[in-house]
This record gives sequence, C-alpha cells and structure tokens, in this order.
Amino acid sequence: AKRRGRRRAQPYVSGLAERLVERQHITDDLYEAVQNGGFSLAFQPVVALSSGITTGYEALIRWNHPTRGWISPDTFIPIAEDCGLIEEIGRWVIMEACRQLAGWSSHLHVAINVSAGQLKSDALLHHLTQAILVYGIAPERVEVEITETALIDDAARTAAMLARIRRTGIKVALDDFGTGQSSLAHLRDFQFDRIKIDRSFVIEAGSDARCMAVLRATVAIGQELGVLTHAEGVETREQLELLRSIGCDAVQGYLVGRPVVPFTDAVATLVPAAV
Ligand code: C2E
Ligand code: CA
Ligand code: CA
Ligand code: CA
Repeated sequence: AKRRGRRRAQPYVSGLAERLVERQHITDDLYEAVQNGGFSLAFQPVVALSSGITTGYEALIRWNHPTRGWISPDTFIPIAEDCGLIEEIGRWVIMEACRQLAGWSSHLHVAINVSAGQLKSDALLHHLTQAILVYGIAPERVEVEITETALIDDAARTAAMLARIRRTGIKVALDDFGTGQSSLAHLRDFQFDRIKIDRSFVIEAGSDARCMAVLRATVAIGQELGVLTHAEGVETREQLELLRSIGCDAVQGYLVGRPVVPFTDAVATLVPAAV
C-alpha cells in the first residue's frame, strides 16, 4: 500500500526509476545474447516496380529474449549503442547477412542496417570487407542502410566514411528519408545509391494530395541525381500503383512480403494451423 501511495505521489520519478532498472536488465541480457548467439536475421524482399522482380532482401535483426519473448530492434539497438555492444552486434549482422547472401542467386543483393555508433568507427569498413572476403561475395551485392539521424554529427567524417565504403563497391542507401532534419541537405552533401522514402509518406499517399506531391518530387530528385528511389512500408495495391505511376524504382512492405526468418519459417510450416 505504501508503495502504491508513493507511486501516485511521484509518478514520473517512480516510472523513470523502473525504466532504468528495466533497461539495466535488458543490457545484462544483451551481453548474454551477444555471447551465446541469441540473435537471428529476418529477410524482407525488395521488389523492382518496373519488372515486379525481387532484387534483394533487407536483413532485419531479431532477438528472442529467453523470458520476455521477441524484443523489437527499435528497443534494443539504442540500448546496444549506449552500452557499447553495437559494434559486436553489428559485426554479427554483417557476417550472418553475407553468409546467407552467399547461398542466394547471384542477381540478389542484401541490405544491412548500420546505426550511428557503427558509422563512427573504422571497424565497420573492416567488418564489411572481411565478410565479403570470407564468403567470396561481389561487393556490389551488399548495401548498407544509414538513417538520416546517423548523419548529423561530424558530417565531414561521415562523408569520408561513406566515400570509403562506396570505393569498395559496396552500395549505400539513405534510410527513413524525410523523417530527419535537413533531408535535402543530406542529398546535397553525401552520395547515395538509393533513397528509401519513409513509410509515413507512403501511408497517406492515396488520401493526401500534399503527401503525394512530396512523394512525386522526391522521386524526381532521385532521378535527377541518378539515385534509385525506393518506397518503404507499402501495404496496399493502391499505394503500389501510385508509386508505379510516379516512376518510383523499388518497393518494400507487407504487400510484397513480410520479413521472414528462413529457418524458423520452414519449421513453422510443419506445425498444423490449428495448434
Ligand atoms: P527500418 O530499417 O526502417 O526497417 C523497416 C521496419 O519496418 C522493420 O521493422 C520492418 O519489419 C517494418 N516493416 C516492413 N514493411 C512494413 C509494412 O509494410 N508495414 C509496417 N507497418 N512495417 C513494415 P523492424 O524489423 O522491427 O526494425 C525496426 C528498426 O530497427 C529498423 O527500421 C532499423 O532501423 C532497426 N534495425 C533492424 N535491424 C537492424 C540491424 O541489424 N542493425 C541496426 N543497426 N538496426 C536494425
Ligand atoms: Ca532499413
Ligand atoms: Ca526505413
Ligand atoms: Ca525505421
């Protein structure tokens, strides 16, 4: 009863303390997962709009926590960045994505998400080139995705790092385009091979004329720059047709394919649907 009373008196402080404890637990468990291989990768198809052909897959990390179940990367990646585990987790993602890519048809590429913390260190380039060598992969088949928010600090250093990555033949995509600050400045100051237009613009494309105008203009900028345009989070046939009509190059989203963990999925099909 006493605890409840206190919580009511100081809801914010109490909530904050609980969240810190919670975060510490997750941090401890992350160390454990890194040590014992607690992660897996899901792959979501990327489809070319002109041909309808799958050109590659985006690798999305999955963590099945021993007691809490699936924890979203949106939750644990920021924690991994804070506690310094991101480099180790990032290295695993790169190696595992390239290992799987080596078994795919040679026209397919793999897209790997890279966070702000990874971009600051030379280890990223080392891990990428190492994975490409180990699995004997053409570097052009690997693409790294960088969010707009990862570009904000130390622009000169980041631009140099992106240039070094691109010189190896590895592609660079700008992720979540339109959600960060100074999106246009990023297109001016950095070189990309692909612009991934954030899902938030796709959702309202059919119903909102302004949103449609922004989408159309973004595709035009991409064409002008010679950069592929790619729409994220396409869930309906209408959205797909609108994007096709404005000349968007590629789509990704539940309509064309959900992220799947290859092995787990094969196992799941053996389980009767009624169970
Ligand atoms: P993201 O890179 O923007 O990835 C797209 C997210 O949208 C994924 O969530 C994906 O499952 C989800 N998604 C795809 N299609 C649709 C759709 O049609 N509708 C809706 N509502 N959602 C869709 P996920 O897998 O939970 O990943 C969340 C974020 O976590 C990613 O956003 C990315 O920023 C980060 N992330 C994932 N894997 C990694 C990784 O290996 N390394 C790093 N550093 N970050 C990762
Ligand atoms: Ca991404
Ligand atoms: Ca994205
Ligand atoms: Ca995102």
